[in-house]
Amino acid sequence: KPVLVWFRLDLRLSDHAPLWEAAREGGPVIPVYVWSPEEEAPWSPGGASRWWLHHSLTALDASLRAAGSRLIIRRGRVVKALADLVRETGAVTVYAHRRVEPAARQLEEEVVRAMSERGVKVRLWADSNLVDPDRVKTQSGEPFQVFTAFWRRCLALSDPPRPLPAPDRVPGPAVWPRGLSCERLELLPKPDWAAGLRATWRPGETAAGERLKRFLKDGWREYATRRDQPAEEGTSRLSPHLHFGEITPRQVWHAVREWAEGQGWNASRWRESAFLRELFWREFAGYLLWHFPHAVERPLRPEWERFPWREDAAGLRAWQRGRTGYPIVDAGMRELWHTGWMHNRVRMIVASFLVKDLRISWLEGARWFWDTLVDADLASNTMGWQWSAGCGVDAAPYFRVFHPVLQGQKFDPDGAYVRRWCPELARVPPEWIHRPFEAPPLLLEAAGVRLGRDYPEPVVSHAAARQAALAAWQSLRAGR
Ligand code: FAD
Repeated sequence: KPVLVWFRLDLRLSDHAPLWEAAREGGPVIPVYVWSPEEEAPWSPGGASRWWLHHSLTALDASLRAAGSRLIIRRGRVVKALADLVRETGAVTVYAHRRVEPAARQLEEEVVRAMSERGVKVRLWADSNLVDPDRVKTQSGEPFQVFTAFWRRCLALSDPPRPLPAPDRVPGPAVWPRGLSCERLELLPKPDWAAGLRATWRPGETAAGERLKRFLKDGWREYATRRDQPAEEGTSRLSPHLHFGEITPRQVWHAVREWAEGQGWNASRWRESAFLRELFWREFAGYLLWHFPHAVERPLRPEWERFPWREDAAGLRAWQRGRTGYPIVDAGMRELWHTGWMHNRVRMIVASFLVKDLRISWLEGARWFWDTLVDADLASNTMGWQWSAGCGVDAAPYFRVFHPVLQGQKFDPDGAYVRRWCPELARVPPEWIHRPFEAPPLLLEAAGVRLGRDYPEPVVSHAAARQAALAAWQSLRAGR
């Protein structure tokens, strides 16, 4: 009897338990993807994510075809699309992966209900994360709210199971149901603004595997020392691949294990390495979203509902366009606009600038990232923003305000990152590159820069903005 394998954020063939199981049972297997952005609103995929999705679905279809199968794409409500396919193919089971996002979970429940009314069994796997959020709790049975305690608890669990290989063949039905071409989903931007994305990324499972291999060979050993330097390619850049499920965290985990064992490392050295620890930040994000689904729109710490955020359309626009007058902030925002990605250190700096220097709500920042990041992920983005704003669990305290000049000087000491993304500052000497507004005008002129003409004056004075932010925070505390 036919099995529908419902693809979601798991656009791969290897380490795919639903596909593996369906193929093992002998088929016929009908791989399905349903494009249903309305059902994820207001967090339906943004512009950069749609670009990625188009290419990832295309790559998935090609891999399925190489295994004798194909991807059936439908559009519209998921329940209806799956019910139609059940009727058309006589399928009696639906296999899929679970997701952690609130709207996606609700959809799962609807699918299970609607299918069971039709006598169709739904089987769900939870492999997008290393740990099952319901299994990891504090001693009093509560969800962890502190990363280090969560991470330690996770490390005490046994290693995740080894990843599954891709099935050699995915047996198909004698007659395929009809499906849409990927182009019909119109995921690619019009007009085409994606040149920077195309130049930077290759979506798909094959590219994800190659990126991991390259990172293990070239970047992993020095990750701990280079990961905070945005001018270098010191991190894996696996985040969009992980988000779309082109690679699984357990594939990453076991690849690291194999590599480290090959180097003679003992288990605690690689299990507690800086890189795998970062991977557990992703776990923690999914875990928090699972336990606190309201956090996508509301501060995790309820007293923050009263925080006096400012409405500042001009400030928000300057931030979005990379025209704040603070070079490290502007470089980050332009990297994001151009490539759909931003270095983690710079994400923290630009987020701090928005919520503290401009005192604009973290939700505005989260929405902009959502539309522009190729790795936009509801769990990680929500956690990152609430962490930066100080209203999440285990967050950076609000009173610790990043100084955009000092951060720039510390993490981009010779200004290479700023020069790459703000070319108008390319000739400014290192001493002034992070604070052109303090440079002697003649020196700036010699570097070809007149403030206000070639590069903006600062939109706020950091010192004054910091004082105002701290006063706002004090008012929140006083009202407690
Ligand atoms: P590496 O350093 O190579 O880390 C490996 C993997 O670990 C990453 O691919 C990612 O899956 C995970 N990881 C690393 N750091 C974090 C972290 N702090 N939080 C969660 N997971 C992490 N990450 C997203 O994937 N999607 C988002 O939408 C997102 N929004 C963010 C918003 C803000 C305000 C901040 C401060 C951080 C955000 N992050 C987000 C986390 C982090 O910046 C990215 O995961 C990281 O920069 C991805 O680059 P990489 O793959 O080279 O990471």
